[in-house]
Amino acid sequence: MTTAPQPVAVPSFSSGPTCRLCGQRAVVSWQRRLADKEFASHLAWERDRRARAVQLADPQMPEPAFGPMPQPETCTITVFACVEHAITLDSAARVHRATCTAPSANDLPGCDCEPEPVSPPDPDPAVSDVGVVLPPGWS
Ligand SMILES: [Zn+2]
Ligand SMILES: [Zn+2]
Repeated sequence: MTTAPQPVAVPSFSSGPTCRLCGQRAVVSWQRRLADKEFASHLAWERDRRARAVQLADPQMPEPAFGPMPQPETCTITVFACVEHAITLDSAARVHRATCTAPSANDLPGCDCEPEPVSPPDPDPAVSDVGVVLPPGWS
């Protein structure tokens, strides 16, 4: 009996992200916090990734160093939606709760959660903190 390798079906890749609601091509996306289960599997994946990196590391080299493990408040998942099932731009600019069901036909163009407030972008210290002194006659 031979053990010839069997052909493996190649998964068909779509040409990009698709709408979470209807599966059409996605045109918009926003961020949502991970639900407990999603976060748990994200953590498991990260642990696995680190364990593998340690296994594969060159023993002549120092052990690979990793940062702290991901925290629920620093992780988000991207939600995609098509042109018909998009939420508002304003809403899409914010991070949604883990429980958010958007895009959900009942709530569009809104959603059923109160998204987190947008954190203001960090001011560029190189620009804002330098007191510029102009030469006489330039002000
Ligand atoms: Zn859709
Ligand atoms: Zn939401």
